[in-house]
Amino acid sequence: MDGNRSAIEHVISSADADAISGRSTYCVGCGACTLLDPAFNIAKNSDGCYCANISGAPREGGAIASSVCPFAAGVDENQIAKDLFSAQTGIQHDQYLGYYLNTYVGFVNEDGWRSRGSSGGFVSWLAATLLREGLIDAVVHVKDGPDSEHMYQYAVSHTVDELATGAKSKYYPVEMSQVLAYMKEHDERYLFIGIPCFVKAMRLLCRNDQLLHSRVKYCIGLVCGHLKSDFFAKSEAWEAGVPLDTIRRVDFRYKIPGSPASDYAIKVDRSDGDVPIIKRTNELSTTNWGLGYFKYNACDYCDDVLAETADVTFGDAWLPQYVSDSQGCNVVVVRNRTIQHILDKHAEELVLHDSTPEEIYQSQAGGFRHRRQGLAYRLDVHKKRGEWTPTKRVQPSLEGIGKRRQKIYAMRTVLKNESFVAFTEAKKANNFSVFIKHMQPVERKYSTIQTPLSRRLLRKIKWLLRGILRRHQSRMHMTARNSAE
Ligand SMILES: Cc1cc2nc3c(=O)[nH]c(=O)nc-3n(C[C@H](O)[C@H](O)[C@H](O)COP(=O)(O)OP(=O)(O)OC[C@H]3O[C@@H](n4cnc5c(N)ncnc54)[C@H](O)[C@@H]3O)c2cc1C
Repeated sequence: MDGNRSAIEHVISSADADAISGRSTYCVGCGACTLLDPAFNIAKNSDGCYCANISGAPREGGAIASSVCPFAAGVDENQIAKDLFSAQTGIQHDQYLGYYLNTYVGFVNEDGWRSRGSSGGFVSWLAATLLREGLIDAVVHVKDGPDSEHMYQYAVSHTVDELATGAKSKYYPVEMSQVLAYMKEHDERYLFIGIPCFVKAMRLLCRNDQLLHSRVKYCIGLVCGHLKSDFFAKSEAWEAGVPLDTIRRVDFRYKIPGSPASDYAIKVDRSDGDVPIIKRTNELSTTNWGLGYFKYNACDYCDDVLAETADVTFGDAWLPQYVSDSQGCNVVVVRNRTIQHILDKHAEELVLHDSTPEEIYQSQAGGFRHRRQGLAYRLDVHKKRGEWTPTKRVQPSLEGIGKRRQKIYAMRTVLKNESFVAFTEAKKANNFSVFIKHMQPVERKYSTIQTPLSRRLLRKIKWLLRGILRRHQSRMHMTARNSAE
């Protein structure tokens, strides 16, 4: 460990070939550092992830950039959220949700927002409503990018029509250096939409920059499992049958009428003018989110699933009672009284069921396990090796984490790292099956670890019994035939 480096330099530096740190860095490439320090710039690395680079001497030895980096700043989500929300009457706090006024599950009933959106259409509807009500002038969110290497990018919308074209989740690398420069130059009232670490970065910027502080009026947070490298979009489209050089854009959340919300498809637009390809994600080998293929390394060092620093957070209601509806439903966590008023005022346009922190937790239970208990494990491994890690709210610890669970978490890091290696090999060989062949034994090993020994033994016994029964039945059948003859 080099004690002279600033926190952000540790974040950016790579820990290559390390089974836990992975091939990447702790940087999520958000671009917050670029606004305050010209020594920093953002570029895509060879793994298809955005990452900050330093050229020249950073301001105050990196201290300025560190103060706005979501993985280097000394101020955590608890402190930011406390300063923003805790003074409101009726506010409560939960260790997973952060501060909240109310929680709901529901969807938007008005004007096609739900059918155009990823789940219940709430994010785009709320952004449009804030615009219509004159509470903001512009929305900073992720929209179509210029080409197949930049399928999506942060941009600024000023009208409801512009907003509508930017709906749906983009499981794709994005960065905000250009929109941040725009926000500095244009005196407008902004709504910012982002995943938890980007919202945290925006809040840190507002704490450090008076101009941004006065212009950013609201933040909407998206619940986040993790962010994907651009290998994710490419691998999905390629496996669906579109050659790499013919992919134009991937719609990651194409709804299939009559299927459960979780059984969605991708739609791949092609640059050769041929008809788009639609393919169910459960027929593709890279779309099991639990395996974490093409995940940014930084995401394994984040403990904020529900965007705790956002005024309101929306996610997918991955709950048995809602998932059967193909149109999709949102989970909703409201933290700001003005947003609550907007929801109350427009109640007739919405379907909102009261929810509970427990239900919201359950909708993301896997994500919480990986980013609370799993993070404690990962931090502990680093600590024992004497390696630098970002300071998290979760403490390094193996307490209460059984040996099998530890192996599961360690294996997930291997899965993530190997997915990058495998896709790079497949690209080189110009053959997607190289990816599958590389990953099959790794996945098999993970699945063996994931299934407890007792369940594996039971499966084996059932399999043996079935074989014995089949042999017995066929012997009986032969005997009966012989005696009949
Ligand atoms: C990387 C990522 C991971 C996610 N993981 C989970 C998860 O694990 N569990 C879960 O419940 N939900 C997750 N979500 C959120 C979920 O996919 C939906 O975005 C959310 O439910 C809102 O749906 P909606 O129909 O209300 O939004 P829509 O009405 O479709 O609007 C979506 C809005 O979000 C903006 N947007 C899309 N992608 C991005 C992006 N990458 N960065 C910033 N803004 C963006 C769009 O521009 C649009 O304004 C994730 C989203 C992303 C982008």
